[in-house]
Amino acid sequence: MARLRNGAGARPAHHVPAILRRPAPWPIPPGWRNQEGMTTPRMDQVDIAIVGAGAVGLAAALALAEGGRRIALLGPVPTHRDGRTVALLDGSWRLLGDLGLHDALADKAAPLAVMRLVDDTGSLFRQPPVEFRASEVGLPAFGWNVENAELVAALAGKLATRAGIRHEPGLVSGITPDEDGVVLSGEGFSLRARLVVGADGRRSRVREAAGITARDWDYPQSALTAIFAHARDHRDVSTEFHTRKGPFTLVPLPGRRSSLVWLLDPAEADEVAALDDAPFARRVERQAHSLLGAMRLDGPRGRVPMGGLSVERFGADRMVLVGEAAHVFPPIGAQGLNLGLRDVMALRDAVDETSDPGAPAAVSAYDQARQADVRLRTGAVDTLNRTLLTDLMPADLLRGAGLLALSRIGPLRRLVMRQGLAGGMAR
Ligand SMILES: Cc1cc2nc3c(=O)[nH]c(=O)nc-3n(C[C@H](O)[C@H](O)[C@H](O)COP(=O)(O)OP(=O)(O)OC[C@H]3O[C@@H](n4cnc5c(N)ncnc54)[C@H](O)[C@@H]3O)c2cc1C
Repeated sequence: MARLRNGAGARPAHHVPAILRRPAPWPIPPGWRNQEGMTTPRMDQVDIAIVGAGAVGLAAALALAEGGRRIALLGPVPTHRDGRTVALLDGSWRLLGDLGLHDALADKAAPLAVMRLVDDTGSLFRQPPVEFRASEVGLPAFGWNVENAELVAALAGKLATRAGIRHEPGLVSGITPDEDGVVLSGEGFSLRARLVVGADGRRSRVREAAGITARDWDYPQSALTAIFAHARDHRDVSTEFHTRKGPFTLVPLPGRRSSLVWLLDPAEADEVAALDDAPFARRVERQAHSLLGAMRLDGPRGRVPMGGLSVERFGADRMVLVGEAAHVFPPIGAQGLNLGLRDVMALRDAVDETSDPGAPAAVSAYDQARQADVRLRTGAVDTLNRTLLTDLMPADLLRGAGLLALSRIGPLRRLVMRQGLAGGMAR
């Protein structure tokens, strides 16, 4: 049943909300008038429909509703917990502040004041750890780390209090573009939008309906995720050990807790994932060289096969792509969701002040705005991941020289920090 998230609760299916009874601001195709001959379309109309209610879709709904547009968010809010946390860089954190989420997240997120890279590959050219301090670029923290499930719950909580956003928890099964809109249908709903935002993840139906070609690839890796309580303070330091199998990263959470992201080849991931909780924690502690002292599992664990995806363009035919519908890469350097939230900011700018958010000019402005940022990050993460996976001497030498340069040359380090945060910095 359709629900308007305006605090009024569920309404009967036949009820037409006042906002939809207003004359539509675009021509209504013949046959769309109701039986009374009023200019109310038979099918519900919205300005923007967002498909997918993960973190990016929820953030998009809240951000795009700010202009007073009629928004529909389509899809179930995910509730599963798998130990995955997301490190949200400065600009993402500011966006969440703009959306009114800081209070809800204050005691759930930990600041990332220092990021430490440790070469744990055993390479001949191994370099000492490199530390990046947020204070070097004038920030109290690079960002904040929060459990993904907590972030999604906070976004969904905020959405439930916002007027003008209609949420349909069913999956979208039909997407049909017409001349000046797109018709979407699914479990219990059918509506027409001037712009459709595909926030429906790696296997995006919106991407398919828009005819946007994607390049999709796999890495011989799986990520294990978990949250731990530990004996020593993390002192707001995130540590990324670069191992031959991929990065092993411990990221601070509030209190003496940290999250783990451990990339392994699938066979070793099978073996480690099969361990019971206590031996698993001991294995992680050993891999971390006991950096945080004794470790104990503090929640459910998860496992994600690693892959990448990039698209030739970010929009077509009144449809645009955000988040993992548009880009996927391994969790190195905390880029994925940050990039997704930058998609949201760019989309908000592209449709700002346009009377028709799905007009070709708005879709093309969004595409242009996202090309360089997304390609740069996808390429950088892919290259770093592949140099870790190879034991070829030139790759080791280059990586070692890069880390050495980063540890010794202050301006270069600051440049890399700014690039890592770029677009995520305050605008
Ligand atoms: C181990 C790991 C660690 C990570 N750490 C970080 C980090 O530290 N920092 C960072 O920035 N990023 C990180 N990422 C990346 C980040 O988690 C993802 O970029 C982000 O969660 C993607 O969100 P999304 O909303 O785009 O996609 P998803 O979370 O996949 O959401 C897509 C949603 O669309 C819905 N959907 C699909 N089809 C339909 C349909 N037909 N109709 C309606 N709904 C549909 C799905 O049900 C789902 O809820 C990490 C990723 C992994 C795997």
